[in-house]
Amino acid sequence: MRNLPIVLDMRGRRAAVVGGGVIAARRVERLVRAGARVTVFAEALSDEFYELLSSPNVVHAPNEPTSAELAGAPLCFVAAEDEGLIGRARDAAKAAGALVNVADRPRFSDFIMPSIVDRSPLVIAISTGGAAPILGRMLKGRIESLIPAAYGRLAELMSGFRAQVAATIPSPVMRRRFWESTLEGPIAEAALAGNEAAARAHLAAEIERWEKDRPSPEGEVYLVGAGPGDPDLLTFRALRLMQKADVVLYDRLADERILRLVRLEAERIYVGKRPDDHELPQEEIAALLVKLAGEGRRVLRLKGGDPFLFGRGGEEIERLAERGVPFQVCPGVTAAIGASAYAGIPLTHRDHAQACVFVTGHGKDGKIDLDWASLIKPRQTVAVYMGLRNLGPLTEAFVAHGASPDLPAAVVDNATRPTQRVVVGTLATLAAAARSAGLKGPSVVIVGTVVTLRDKLDWYAPEASRPA
Ligand code: SAH
Repeated sequence: MRNLPIVLDMRGRRAAVVGGGVIAARRVERLVRAGARVTVFAEALSDEFYELLSSPNVVHAPNEPTSAELAGAPLCFVAAEDEGLIGRARDAAKAAGALVNVADRPRFSDFIMPSIVDRSPLVIAISTGGAAPILGRMLKGRIESLIPAAYGRLAELMSGFRAQVAATIPSPVMRRRFWESTLEGPIAEAALAGNEAAARAHLAAEIERWEKDRPSPEGEVYLVGAGPGDPDLLTFRALRLMQKADVVLYDRLADERILRLVRLEAERIYVGKRPDDHELPQEEIAALLVKLAGEGRRVLRLKGGDPFLFGRGGEEIERLAERGVPFQVCPGVTAAIGASAYAGIPLTHRDHAQACVFVTGHGKDGKIDLDWASLIKPRQTVAVYMGLRNLGPLTEAFVAHGASPDLPAAVVDNATRPTQRVVVGTLATLAAAARSAGLKGPSVVIVGTVVTLRDKLDWYAPEASRPA
């Protein structure tokens, strides 16, 4: 992140704007709306200022600012054309200890002005860090259309009750539940429909009910598939549950970009492989889920791919079912499906395969124990999970059990991520090719003539795959 987004309280504070044109006027306008006291330094002011000058919070100084005049103004906005003036104003502001923004010159600026969607008191600021203001404005347009104007009213209503709710419901967990139920029910409906009196009455009654009933929080576990890596492959439901969680249990497979989408305040517990290669035993994870949910928390168990496919998700929640702890399961895009799409290798195809089998190549003591007779069949694709480490023995075993050494096969490494790499060969050549490519996993091995389709269907070109 190149910039730190903050929301500044400018009420009653001084700010300076240098320049008398349209952009300067926009700056003044926004500052006045935020309650700041603004001095505009400019020889002449454009018509845009006409109304602004009638505000008691706007003062016009028909000269260039000196650093003495800027003292006590934490922010200085420069919106001028003249390079000399820009430089002098910037120096003066710096000398006065102000943070400076120069319009359209992110490199000269201490901070940038974001595009904003204003549903005061709800404000959404969008910034590309100066990289692509047009993109920021485009997004602003989309968000504007997403958020009804009435959300401002809703925020106002909630703000009016905050102190009372805090006093009535001291537990932060319960308070969150209270506000969430407010936002999902008839109170929000009434406020958004503009019926403020009804919304107030509902809300007051609801607070009273909570005070009387004193409900205790009910914990729940969400077993969620996070997909193979690309955050765009999360389901809407996964995202919603991720945003509701009080605590998240995750392991190595969850991409860092995905973890960032979990509610910021959620506690994070890593339960994956330690540096010594030991995983937290399944029973301990299950016990932890029961314990956390028992404390009334909403527990997110985030799994790579799909939780019920080679993910032991079933084992983890069996205990919950036995103890009567409520849980939900949310599917995810499994690695083989992600690999198939992002490597351009359809798993079935009328000319090649009518069936696809998912197996794990994770052998006990290096031995791979698979039902070879059912795997090696014409017109069938095999997707092998956890097969990279044993790739040599694995491909040899395919051949030893009757598959042609010329059968096409591929390794899709870090599927769907920017680091995705695909190595294509045959059963005879794949292991050596993967080794010389230095693949580290996680990867899925795809065996079958469908692999040849990649020649035509390869579309995903992340940086790692491009020749240097
Ligand atoms: N539940 C997961 C699988 C967990 S087992 C799912 O549905 O995808 C772990 C194995 O999944 C890894 O050894 C690897 O074979 C595969 N895998 C997970 N993420 C992957 C990725 N981004 N690219 C390729 N293979 C992946």
